[in-house]
Amino acid sequence: MKSHTNCRCAELGNLAVIGMGSEPDEEVLGSLDLVSEHGGLQWWLYMSRCNQCQQFWMIAQEERVHDNFCLKRIDAEDAARIVTDAIWPEDFLEFGAVLRLERECGQVAHFLDPNCHALVATAHELKRERPDITSDEIGYLLAIRPSHAARLLAQKP
Ligand SMILES: [Zn+2]
Repeated sequence: MKSHTNCRCAELGNLAVIGMGSEPDEEVLGSLDLVSEHGGLQWWLYMSRCNQCQQFWMIAQEERVHDNFCLKRIDAEDAARIVTDAIWPEDFLEFGAVLRLERECGQVAHFLDPNCHALVATAHELKRERPDITSDEIGYLLAIRPSHAARLLAQKP
């Protein structure tokens, strides 16, 4: 492995949240090539490899609510399991887990339209993923008040 590369991978932690359209977005994602897409229900999930340092990254491209790329550093063994067996590390398999990571990093969006489709659809998706989720928790994940989350659930997706 080269000690000097044209990528930013070495500066990132094992888990990184990068705002879409930001400067780090272009610099970090610029050297990452798509290897595998999860597809199916997990439309946000794929795995890429850096064409400079060869690091594998599992990426959740969360462009519906908070607009971030969530990256998890994975080793060659995990990458091989994704490619050959379609077995993914579980970190980003639930949309709610992706939103939670973004929320904990403080990388959240604020919507001008409180009833926009993205919010309504996501509130329902979170409920489908985990039927016992509370309005408090949905509010936390979407960075809105619990009463607002409850109103979203009362609307048709
Ligand atoms: Zn790299």
